[in-house]
Amino acid sequence: MHVALPDGKQLDLPEHATGLDAAAAIGPRLAQDALAIRANGELFDLLTPLPDGAQISILTKKNLEEVPQFWRHTLAHVLAQAVREFYAARGFGPETVKMGVGPAIENGFYYDFDLPEPLRAEDLPEIERVMNDIVSRDLKLARREVSREEALEAFAFDPYKAELIRELPEGETITFYAQEGFTDLCRGPHVPRTGLIPRHFKLMSTSGAYWRGSEKNPMLQRIYGVAFASKAELDAYLHQLEEAKRRDHRKIGKDLNLFFTSEVVGPGLPLWLPNGATIRRELERFIVDLELAQGYQHVYTPAMAKVDLYKISGHWDHYQEDMFPTMRIDQEELVLRPMNCPHHIQVYKHEQRSYRDLPIKIAELGTMYRFEQSGELTGLARVRSMTLNDAHIFVRPDQIQDEFKKVVRLVQDVYAILGFTDYKWRLSLRDPNDTEKYFQDDQMWQSAEAQLRQALDDLGLEYYESPGDAAFYGPKLDVQVKSALGKDETISTVQLDFLLPQRFDLEYVNEESGRSRPIMIHRGIISTMERMTAFLIENTAGDFPFWLAPQQAVVVPIADRHLEYAREVEERLRARGLRAHVDAGGERMNAKIRNAELHKIPVILIVGDQEAEQRQLSVRERGKGERKAVPLEDLVQELDVRYRTRALN
Ligand code: ATP
Ligand code: ZN
Ligand code: ZN
Repeated sequence: MHVALPDGKQLDLPEHATGLDAAAAIGPRLAQDALAIRANGELFDLLTPLPDGAQISILTKKNLEEVPQFWRHTLAHVLAQAVREFYAARGFGPETVKMGVGPAIENGFYYDFDLPEPLRAEDLPEIERVMNDIVSRDLKLARREVSREEALEAFAFDPYKAELIRELPEGETITFYAQEGFTDLCRGPHVPRTGLIPRHFKLMSTSGAYWRGSEKNPMLQRIYGVAFASKAELDAYLHQLEEAKRRDHRKIGKDLNLFFTSEVVGPGLPLWLPNGATIRRELERFIVDLELAQGYQHVYTPAMAKVDLYKISGHWDHYQEDMFPTMRIDQEELVLRPMNCPHHIQVYKHEQRSYRDLPIKIAELGTMYRFEQSGELTGLARVRSMTLNDAHIFVRPDQIQDEFKKVVRLVQDVYAILGFTDYKWRLSLRDPNDTEKYFQDDQMWQSAEAQLRQALDDLGLEYYESPGDAAFYGPKLDVQVKSALGKDETISTVQLDFLLPQRFDLEYVNEESGRSRPIMIHRGIISTMERMTAFLIENTAGDFPFWLAPQQAVVVPIADRHLEYAREVEERLRARGLRAHVDAGGERMNAKIRNAELHKIPVILIVGDQEAEQRQLSVRERGKGERKAVPLEDLVQELDVRYRTRALN
């Protein structure tokens, strides 16, 4: 056979030659450095026979980044070998270690084992040490095709591997990859020598994992590791994990007494403690005040309704799996609402509306319930009972663009206050092939999508399109905000809806005294109180801006004789609605300051002799150092302004 090199030269090779053979034929140096091979544009490992006539190019150690799954997979084998050696050193023969599967995954690898005795987390460093040793031994890997009988014989001791072998379809090539001291049933691909594996890996954890993911099967022990091409990448990844842990809103929520869930209340049904409730109340006041100023009318409507309402709206057909089961009461089927729209539509319908009344903006902090899978529930970020900053804008066709733009500007204003600067606009469209998920009306979809594009273009916003993310009744604009951990989260959404007005037969009296149908815009600016709070906790790591901080200021008297003045300061601040308290405990000043910092109280006011006599304060703020001799009146004024203007710090 022959292959063609990048420079056009032909290379003659024996039948079934592998990439490694090709590299060796070119030169021993290349064979030593070779990592993988590209043949006709496709990546192969160096141990697999090449297609005859292929156009090839060889990847070397410099190309580690291009084949991460190759060396991560080899690391899984190295892990398995290390585990064997670990148990061998404790007197267990190689056949006492049985193995499930061991793939390369994103950022790393794992292997599932059935072990002679359980492995403890403390054993991981030792296994990691053996792995490093195996890498140093620079063992050559070999690939071999075997018959089913041979494979079964080799793994007669291992019921898991045997099961996999028996289930391989007839006619499929069965391959082993082997290195000195270890052979695995494996499809590859691998790097050709363990010495080529970058040493930037780390075993992270062991956990239980059912064989083939089924609870009916035995529980295996999974060892999971991460692996990167460079130390910098590994360090960055580990740092990211630390950050995620440090910012985890569930942990901070507990540390700062923000919220909890209770066994007896139920999963996904969080209870807001006074501190968390304070944050939520501030957010609610903030958004409601802004909305009132922009002509929204706030209402309260019940969190349940007759099923009929959702049959009319279409939720029953398209959204039922996200709803809780119905309740039967007095011959009626009731259900908890998963969305507020149908209720707001009833409010619209309650009166006859004229073209002069439009747009009508009905808003509510609407509590709703969604049957989220228990495995998906996460702290406040994904819950089953939630309160949405919701509104429905009923418009005439000629008002769509304007109102849509106003909502976009409202989003921008709100983000400026919240300090969100890194966000993207996503135009979520239907997937026209998905007739299950989306309401069928091509003309409606085309017109709605065109309207949104037009408005976005007018605003000069940069946006990207995402087919398959629309609501079942229409396209939407989602705002994807980058979290402190680098994840994109949908915070705001604006949705155009021609369907619900039709389903509920909505109308207004037009200029000719005839009947016209309004269009609805669904919009949420700050999402659910739950998800927004989770997001803010993670973004600030608990260091909330002054206006949101559950405890805004603590007054620390240096000695008991300063208590009276401290109380006066507290009272002055509270009179302005500020959340201040005196720490009158018996600890020393420094302990009180540390405690305040631990509780993330942004402003610490220290009062001693001079402060009490001169009616001043010593002001300590997170990240800002200390200001001495600030007159009380000035401070009250300053904090008041910062609070009212919702200053970022
Ligand atoms: P997701 O894709 O996250 O389930 P969705 O597309 O179903 O959300 P919408 O129906 O648009 O969301 O809901 C409006 C808002 O409610 C969104 O801003 C979303 O962030 C928030 N939200 C949705 N589900 C939950 C939940 N289970 N817990 C907390 N907030 C939620
Ligand atoms: Zn393998
Ligand atoms: Zn709605």
